[in-house]
Amino acid sequence: MERDELLDFFRKLDRSLFLDKEFREYADCDSPLPIGYRQTISQPSLVLEKTRLLNLSREMRVLEIGTGSGYQTAFLARFAREVYTVEIIEELSLKAQKRLAGLGFKNIRFKVGDGSQGWPEHAPYDRIIVTAGASKVPDPLLEQLSCGGLMVIPVGTPSLQDLLLVEKNKDGSLSQKPVGKVVFVELKGEYGWRNR
Ligand code: SAH
Repeated sequence: MERDELLDFFRKLDRSLFLDKEFREYADCDSPLPIGYRQTISQPSLVLEKTRLLNLSREMRVLEIGTGSGYQTAFLARFAREVYTVEIIEELSLKAQKRLAGLGFKNIRFKVGDGSQGWPEHAPYDRIIVTAGASKVPDPLLEQLSCGGLMVIPVGTPSLQDLLLVEKNKDGSLSQKPVGKVVFVELKGEYGWRNR
């Protein structure tokens, strides 16, 4: 992906389209904002950073866990071939579907359900991005990552996480490195923070 293309898209994409009316005036602030149901849209600089870490290209199939507002999804859909995105809160998924269809994206498939278990039917994925914080990398996601694939996921405590870049090497072995401290809402579900 050309770095300038990404920046260009970032500058042109109107974040207010992904916000409810009462928060639209803050769309240009580089901070997370509420999207309802006690969830947040990430700050734009972090979305840019995560997208850059994924090093996307046009042939790739991407799995996203935590559709949320759909803002990050738009970046994935613009720079990859196909995006599979899972959201546990139905209302958020439906709103995101409407927005992204309105923007003309046709390469996104949506699912409502527990994304901590991935989306096995379409695996393996060249890239996986998790937009909620987990206590550890969910095993199903590691299984559903292709050899040579990359995953970006925040891992730590509910209040602070390391953003991890996980690579599944060609021989199937894993390597991972922390690339920064972040604060995301909690990943729920079977392989997330259960009962919270
Ligand atoms: N990328 C989104 C971030 C939304 S916040 C955006 O920019 O708007 C994280 C989202 O992950 C929330 O919408 C939350 O409901 C969702 N989530 C949490 N646990 C999940 C799970 N196990 N499966 C799918 N989605 C989950």
